[in-house]
Amino acid sequence: MKKAVIIGGGISGLATAALLAQAGHHVTLIEKNAQLGGRARVYKKKGYSFDMGPSWYMMPEVFDRFFALFGKKTSDFYSLIKLNPHYKVVFNPKTHAYIYDDTQKNTEVFEGIEKNAGNTLKTYLARMQKAYDIALQLLYFDTSHIRSWLSAHKIFLAIRFFFLIPFWTNWYAFTQKYFTHPHLLKILTFPAVFLGGSPYNTPALYSLLTWADFGRGIWYPKGGMTMIIRALENLALSHNVTILTSTKVTRVLYLNNAITHVVCGKKKTLACDIVVNTADLQHFETRILDQAHQTYDAAYWKKKTKAISAFIMFIGIKKRLKNATHHTLFFASDWQKNFAALFKKTKKLYTNPSFYVAIASATDRSIVPKAHEQLFVLVPTGAQLSTSAEQYKKYSDHILDLLEDHYGPIRDAIDVVRIYTPHSFAQDYNAYTGTALGLAHTFLQSLFFVLH
Ligand SMILES: Cc1cc2nc3c(=O)[nH]c(=O)nc-3n(C[C@H](O)[C@H](O)[C@H](O)COP(=O)(O)OP(=O)(O)OC[C@H]3O[C@@H](n4cnc5c(N)ncnc54)[C@H](O)[C@@H]3O)c2cc1C
Repeated sequence: MKKAVIIGGGISGLATAALLAQAGHHVTLIEKNAQLGGRARVYKKKGYSFDMGPSWYMMPEVFDRFFALFGKKTSDFYSLIKLNPHYKVVFNPKTHAYIYDDTQKNTEVFEGIEKNAGNTLKTYLARMQKAYDIALQLLYFDTSHIRSWLSAHKIFLAIRFFFLIPFWTNWYAFTQKYFTHPHLLKILTFPAVFLGGSPYNTPALYSLLTWADFGRGIWYPKGGMTMIIRALENLALSHNVTILTSTKVTRVLYLNNAITHVVCGKKKTLACDIVVNTADLQHFETRILDQAHQTYDAAYWKKKTKAISAFIMFIGIKKRLKNATHHTLFFASDWQKNFAALFKKTKKLYTNPSFYVAIASATDRSIVPKAHEQLFVLVPTGAQLSTSAEQYKKYSDHILDLLEDHYGPIRDAIDVVRIYTPHSFAQDYNAYTGTALGLAHTFLQSLFFVLH
């Protein structure tokens, strides 16, 4: 039995802790915040329960596989609701569309926007499905080491994958080979945002997410995404993981270049044989490891393409909204300029942004007080810390205007409102330059180029 210390109590830390404990190790998990969950924490106030990060439950087979490793089923922990429609997209105040849990209906939606696009969608999805199936086979080995690719079967799969989706082109350009209407291109490429990038700097290989969405579906765990955290915490505790919250790892001690102890300020020093870091890598490398043991120094991180960050509003209102859809995406008319702005060093906030609204209470009434509604509003922003609190305050007013344009009066019923900014990401998660999602999934930061 080895002593393992896990740094970070988000999804990765909790899952790793449970796996190592099941393998017979003595595991301690250390989390700096009072609440477990990391970016998937929950904000509770006045009877509202807001998921603070993830809201799209996709690729359920990955969760099923994980729980099966413990002889469990996902349904042992939470029940999933399949969303239909998956989401609404708003192109401008007069034009919107829905994407459904129904391929035939989606082909009609596409056909209504561009001639022959319905049939093209079927061809496109068939290709994505093949790529997705291959990706799932490749998912469970370590793609970050080139030597782990050295098996005939994996090489064959990788070649097949890149035959289906080329790696040298960006997601937007690849999708343009199939569709021309900007509305369809927006629908199919916006998930680049989930990867912290833009459709123009994210490689086409991630377009397989289209199959995860159109082909597999979008789910919601009743009670919220926080149910995943509860499930992982239960698993970890049932395997005797010791969980320390409100405890920050500050440095590690070495003997002969191996880490022997994890130090939590003056609070605690833990001896260990294994350390798994799940906190943001830049923080671990530059703040926890000493300089002699850093693989990547401060200068290196500066050069990397940071993932976008987000300006988020959690809004609880004392009324129901008539036109509430669980997921709604609002697309900026100057979409490309908006994306370009996210990767520029500017403290200015975009006045005509693309943004996303989740109204989970449209699906799940258990997360709000009776006859109330809750909105999670996410506006992608650059990962930078120069925008002031005053600017964000003003911006929240502007975003409320945009919301009211679509949903009708909201201000008159506001019960709870909280703003979350890149500064919050930096403070709460030690996120470099306040990024919401670490590094962007550009080509040179993907596959075996992923930092490890
Ligand atoms: C706004 C937003 C929306 C998202 N939407 C989706 C979605 O819809 N669907 C989806 O699948 N994914 C989504 N994601 C991504 C998903 O939430 C993350 O990939 C996932 O939660 C990351 O988990 P993690 O454990 O790897 O990292 P984290 O959750 O960041 O966990 C790392 C933990 O380490 C802790 N830590 C940091 N420094 C220290 C230290 N020195 N000592 C101790 N602890 C430390 C942090 O507090 C944190 O709890 C979203 C993310 C965000 C931010």
